[in-house]
Amino acid sequence: MTIREIEAKSILRKYKKIDSWFVSRYGMNLYRGCTHNCVYCDGRSEAYYVDGEFGEDVTVKINAIEILRRELDPKRKRAPFKRSFIMIGGGVGDSYQPIEEKYQLSRRALELVDEYNFPVHVLTKSTLIKRDIDILKKINQKNRTIVSFSFSSVDDKISAIFEPGVPPPSERLKTLTFFKNEGITCGMFLLPVIPFITDTPELMEETVRKASEVNVDFIIFGGMTLKEGRQKDYFSQVLKQCYPELIVEYENIYQKNKWGEATGEYYNSIDLTFNSIIKKYKIPPRIPLALYKDILEENDLVVVVLEHIDYLLKLKGRTSPYGYAAYSISQLKEPLLSIKRELKRINGVGKVTESIILEILKTRNSSYYKKLLTG
Ligand code: SF4
Repeated sequence: MTIREIEAKSILRKYKKIDSWFVSRYGMNLYRGCTHNCVYCDGRSEAYYVDGEFGEDVTVKINAIEILRRELDPKRKRAPFKRSFIMIGGGVGDSYQPIEEKYQLSRRALELVDEYNFPVHVLTKSTLIKRDIDILKKINQKNRTIVSFSFSSVDDKISAIFEPGVPPPSERLKTLTFFKNEGITCGMFLLPVIPFITDTPELMEETVRKASEVNVDFIIFGGMTLKEGRQKDYFSQVLKQCYPELIVEYENIYQKNKWGEATGEYYNSIDLTFNSIIKKYKIPPRIPLALYKDILEENDLVVVVLEHIDYLLKLKGRTSPYGYAAYSISQLKEPLLSIKRELKRINGVGKVTESIILEILKTRNSSYYKKLLTG
């Protein structure tokens, strides 16, 4: 393992628009590279320019806290922050991978998030996050904390093959229980399911059932991508060793797509399976509106709710105009409240979308969204 310490120029990443998966406008990568070394990790792909041997080497942004303090200080900002969850995690390195024990960048970043009064959403696979319960609780009391864990399934044996450097799913589930008992909102990212291995209806149902037993507040689901190059080569090597009979199946669904995506038919089929399972367990497949409706400003709230509606419709195998409308709204400079009478001028907004938007602006809620979630 090689650790490289670097001086970063910036830490906080501002997304081009609000991210409706995480309900976040800002995120950060404190480390580049990840010794968790998940076989499917897309951080391994050349597309992300992570230096060194992925899974072995880690780059540490040694001055991260100093920079972040400047970036989070509202007095130093020309434009005010848009309220949303600050996202810690995801990207090209788990914020709670083993090296965090020594550098404590995630802990110190949380201290700043607390000091500057932001809500936070942390996504990890590591039980080390329990160490920071004191700060996560403080943030939760003043603003809000969401702790999410990612899983490809709840099968410890399969995880040992594909997620060799992380605590097994059974430990992650126990950690979710720990956070729930501390009054923290928790999510499961069932992402990615591994084709023909963890995407079977039986294993997916077992995973959702166990998530339901620990009372997760939501489950976000997604399939796997395999980008040509390092990511696909590494994955194929492991597949060949452990599941040689699946090689042809993989060739059929991963057909050299630029983004490493599998075929639409494959994703549709796992979406339908997932949809039927979460309906049975009554778990929302997106972060529930109650957790952010008092946080986001109007335009962002409308974008997130429309994108969630769009997702729910597609999950049911239906088409939807709401994603396009949400994108158009995300590009607006003026507040929706100031153009309430002219909403139909916005690309993608027709009569039905207009009435959904007006209801959100008035009540910070959407009866259509609620109906889709329960229907
Ligand atoms: S924990 Fe996340 S970032 Fe780290 S190797 Fe696994 S998938 Fe990649």
